[in-house]
Amino acid sequence: MSDPNEWNYAPAPEAAKQARISDRYAHFINGKWADPKEGEYFQSTNPATGEKLSEVALGTKRDVNAAVKAARNAYDNVWSGMSPRERGKYIYRIARLIQERAREFAIIETLDGGKPIRESRDIDVPLAANHFFYYAGWADKLDYAFPNRKVSSLGVAGQVIPWNFPLLMAAWKIAPALATGNTVVLKPAETTSLTAMKLAEIIADSGLPDGVVNIVTGMGETGALVVNHDDVNKVAFTGSTSVGKRIQKSIAGTDKKITLELGGKAANIILEDAAIDQAVEGIVNGIYFNQGHVCCAGSRLFVQESVYDEVLWKLKRRMDTLIVGDPLDKNTDVGAINSKEQLETIQRYLKAGVDNGAEMYQPACDLPASGNWCPPTVFTNVAQSSIIAQEEIFGPVLAVQTFRTVPEAIEKANNTPYGLSAGIWCDKGARLFQISNQLEAGVVWGNTYNQFDPTSPFGGYKESGFGREGGLHGLAAYLDM
Ligand code: NAP
Ligand code: MG
Repeated sequence: MSDPNEWNYAPAPEAAKQARISDRYAHFINGKWADPKEGEYFQSTNPATGEKLSEVALGTKRDVNAAVKAARNAYDNVWSGMSPRERGKYIYRIARLIQERAREFAIIETLDGGKPIRESRDIDVPLAANHFFYYAGWADKLDYAFPNRKVSSLGVAGQVIPWNFPLLMAAWKIAPALATGNTVVLKPAETTSLTAMKLAEIIADSGLPDGVVNIVTGMGETGALVVNHDDVNKVAFTGSTSVGKRIQKSIAGTDKKITLELGGKAANIILEDAAIDQAVEGIVNGIYFNQGHVCCAGSRLFVQESVYDEVLWKLKRRMDTLIVGDPLDKNTDVGAINSKEQLETIQRYLKAGVDNGAEMYQPACDLPASGNWCPPTVFTNVAQSSIIAQEEIFGPVLAVQTFRTVPEAIEKANNTPYGLSAGIWCDKGARLFQISNQLEAGVVWGNTYNQFDPTSPFGGYKESGFGREGGLHGLAAYLDM
């Protein structure tokens, strides 16, 4: 194997000072900054350094009540009665403002969450703006979206989002809700509230009527208060399967409409006729970029036996070249793990994998001295029953298995409680479609991976949740019809 470290890129750090982060953020309620009623704040830190970035309000019952009240008032008195065309204009304005401040958003997303700036700059922020653009376009065309149906908005949407795509998940939640005439109370994840607060600034700048979007920061309890509030009509949750189940239980028996976007354990399947270099690049993209903090991460790899040696050799060689480190550096491929807790979780799985008899490979990389880091990891010789092949790890950890026949690959790929996404690498389109129809996954990518577009619905089966976000399906989730 040639030495991949013969030469290196010079550091190309993005300037952190381009981003303005306040020392402290209050909630955003009824168009204004609202100090937490109990006066408590918690820290948001940079997971790459451990440094404190800001303080964020801790939302309690009285804060959530105030936010829901503002959302109800805005729904009843302004937003639901506004002409759809006017509503669309506000949503367009939010999209434009995100574009104008894209650089600042990307930097803050990277500082607060640890993801490489290349990802936040090229994926998170543009997709978030596009989501607002896309749904702005639908606002005055709902009759065309659902012909011969009488559609109406639901009321107040309570929305709770995770830390892996903080701004993008906020966009996925807010844009379709507004386009369909609903108002919103959003609770960002504890470790990544800052871009939501920047979004609040933009929402204020856009002139959106007070109370249409309210953002309450806090922990899991704050999220529970939002989804369980009596005056919330629609619950939209993205996060772990365990919390999703808890939410579903807690709102059972109410007439709240609900969508759940939960965990995943996606299978990537490489057939022997696949373009191997392209496949390896897709596998690497699917599990190592963004540190595997992706619900649809391709965390299981199934390789046809005849090409196994070649795939593994190329995969390891590619892993050796991945740049792990400063997320603000434009060359970085793998950034920081989002939190100490998440790092500990990943480390527990690494140990379990080894204890279960799998073989672990990690490239030698110089990890920074402070912050939360995990090198890209691949496990081979993995038993189907092994915990690392069964459970969502949510880190840069790939479990590889082999297969001889296609039916065997399909059976193994489907042998999981999850059903969010999958990938197939093969030369023949017809075969690819045939296999994709047999995979129990909401999204199946063919000869590519992790492609997103606002027009295309996304969501899971089985324990990965139900309901779809994006596309027309994403509108339907916010409408009575
Ligand atoms: P999580 O622990 O379930 O948290 C998600 C959100 O729910 C956070 O804002 C969290 O607040 C809040 N929360 C926690 N307990 C709650 C409760 N009892 N009631 C209401 N809200 C509560 O998930 P995570 O660790 O942040 O995110 C990782 C998970 O999200 C993974 O499983 C991943 O697969 C999944 N995910 C799925 C999709 C998808 O589209 N299917 C997309 C992204 C992520 P705190 O942050 O304060 O705990
Ligand atoms: Mg943070």
